[in-house]
Amino acid sequence: MERIKEVLRRKGVPASTPRICIYDYLLAQKTHPSAEMVYSALHPQMPALSRTTVYNTLRMLCDIGLVKQIPICEGDMRFDADISEHGHFWCRKCGRVIDIDAPHIATNQSHHEIGNVDEIQVVLIGTCHNCK
Ligand SMILES: [Zn+2]
Ligand SMILES: [Zn+2]
Repeated sequence: MERIKEVLRRKGVPASTPRICIYDYLLAQKTHPSAEMVYSALHPQMPALSRTTVYNTLRMLCDIGLVKQIPICEGDMRFDADISEHGHFWCRKCGRVIDIDAPHIATNQSHHEIGNVDEIQVVLIGTCHNCK
């Protein structure tokens, strides 16, 4: 908890209880939860927590670079506190999002002709072994 407070303070944001709890939850989870999943998991212990606070906090954590958004099909945005370079496998059937080694995609000249590349997202979509 102290470490999280320190990290938030260093990013210049006040370490409010929802921020600490949501970031702590994301760090502990390897499931890449959606905003709704974060809300459902934390709401029982924090009855005052609203969906809006969860959405706004997740957006803020992304803005300050502590959390990454993973764009998954069908508008189901997932969140990851592991900001190291890696890709994801998304199971269409059960919705699991599994970390994978990021296939190396070099940003070549043609990308730069289109615009600046800030981030590379690799999402493989399929059916996991449990669902086959
Ligand atoms: Zn599956
Ligand atoms: Zn991940």
